[in-house]
Amino acid sequence: MSRKTVRDYIRTIPDFPHEGILFRDVTTLFADARGMRLCVDQLLDPYAGQRIDAVAGLEARGFILGGAIAHQLGTGFVPIRKKGKLPGPTFAQDYALEYGQATVEVHRDALPAGARVLLVDDLLATGGTARAGIALLERLGCEVMGCAFVIDLPDLGGRKALEAMGMELHTLCS
Ligand code: IMP
Repeated sequence: MSRKTVRDYIRTIPDFPHEGILFRDVTTLFADARGMRLCVDQLLDPYAGQRIDAVAGLEARGFILGGAIAHQLGTGFVPIRKKGKLPGPTFAQDYALEYGQATVEVHRDALPAGARVLLVDDLLATGGTARAGIALLERLGCEVMGCAFVIDLPDLGGRKALEAMGMELHTLCS
């Protein structure tokens, strides 16, 4: 009997959020009990035996994955949020979008300097969001020991950009 892979649980929605965009929708993966477990287990696979002090997730689907991964590891979870959502003093990092720019933030006291952090999100495209998240974690004095994504869109250059920074990358499908 052939069993579904993580990729099989992900659906593609055409023309969302704009005409011509193929949106990779992981809600169908997260909604399935086996899919969710498979995804979390596979995201953690390469880090067995490594020291991870905390998990950081990028808004918003990185929160769903990050919380589950942190629970499995027995670590805390740190949200990297869009501008204006975090209540305490923050560090902010701008990054470029296709049209315009966006800003993400992290609480200044989220983690102690020297913490080894795993950064997670659902999808890596240009890598702009992930690079902004890495910059924030490094501003806290943390070491980003790995970046884990469910989906990689390699044509958009994110993988290359993160690897050029010396980041350890783990993705489940492309
Ligand atoms: P990047 O900054 O260009 O790498 O885009 C990645 C960010 O955009 C991630 O936070 C993703 O959640 C989001 N994103 C971009 N395209 C998609 C998609 O097709 N499905 C789900 N999320 C996407």
